[in-house]
Amino acid sequence: MGCVRVVVVAGGIGGARFLRGVRAAIPDAEVTALVNTGDDLTVHGMRVCPDLDTVMYTLGDGIDRARGWGRDGESWRVKDELAAYGADPAWFGLGDLDLATHLIRTRMLDAGYPLSAVTEALCARWRPGVRLLPMSDDRVETHVLVDAEPGPADAPRTGGGRRAIHFQEWWVRHRATLPAYGFVQVGLEAAKPAAGVLDALATADAILLAPSNPVVSIGTVLAVPGIRDAVRAAPGQVVGLSPIVAGAPVRGMADACLTAIGVATTAEAVGRRYGSRAWADGVLDGWLVDTADAAARVPGVRVEAVPLLMTDEAATTAMARAALTLAGV
Ligand code: GDP
Ligand code: CA
Repeated sequence: MGCVRVVVVAGGIGGARFLRGVRAAIPDAEVTALVNTGDDLTVHGMRVCPDLDTVMYTLGDGIDRARGWGRDGESWRVKDELAAYGADPAWFGLGDLDLATHLIRTRMLDAGYPLSAVTEALCARWRPGVRLLPMSDDRVETHVLVDAEPGPADAPRTGGGRRAIHFQEWWVRHRATLPAYGFVQVGLEAAKPAAGVLDALATADAILLAPSNPVVSIGTVLAVPGIRDAVRAAPGQVVGLSPIVAGAPVRGMADACLTAIGVATTAEAVGRRYGSRAWADGVLDGWLVDTADAAARVPGVRVEAVPLLMTDEAATTAMARAALTLAGV
């Protein structure tokens, strides 16, 4: 038998940490990380791919571990200098070391290389030990519908006027505190899965949905035309891991995203949102929840409860092992 092939659908921090566990749990496997690019943006003329970079730096041992994103040993001199000019956006942190990645990426994209090829080139340095694939080589950017004139949080809503702002502006600048009424993926309809994505899914012995943001990470990847169907048609089992433990995101503000689309912040509700692969549009064969959520039930899906906190390497590896076992590999 050839080597086991595993595809992990991932966002940034949750996806990256989980991927370290998968790499350790099944070192001989061929692992493909299928990464969200809906958070990508252009700042100061540079193309930035936050989730791809978080995964690349984390698996390449270049991540700032405490912060969870960006380079270790980072400095911020360019950011300070840009601020001295009053350059917008001042709220998006670009570190000096990180800038080199964005400069190379932007230059290669401008020369006509697709993002998947650019990512491969960047990974030649970082050697993440897994194959990193962007969900699409086409530009897809998540925007958030907010009030046109946001007032104080407790002010009565007048209804009517909405505007769409880039996801990063909502997430980073406003810390997801502006009431959100939904998400729009600009460019989604015309987007195709990146080179290699459909092949990886069609030959996967297991597909794992990392404990990433279910709305703007996993949800966005699955929304790329062709990807959800390819996951549903894959030969291997599909197992998801809940990013929600005991009614709250383990870190970050995923609850604000779930609320915006009318889904409760519980492991059960997220599992039901992904749905059973036995039914139209569902993607799950198995759903892994934390032991705190052992009562969760998802119709048509095998639910198992194990500790789901990635507190250290051993705990993360055990989580990955449990997911692979539930997927039958
Ligand atoms: P982002 O793109 O950087 O926001 O990261 P992801 O989308 O990959 O992951 C964010 C999600 O990871 C959040 O909803 C967190 O709840 C989840 N997460 C982070 N750490 C853990 C953990 O230790 N266990 C679980 N189950 N989820 C986690
Ligand atoms: Ca992200």
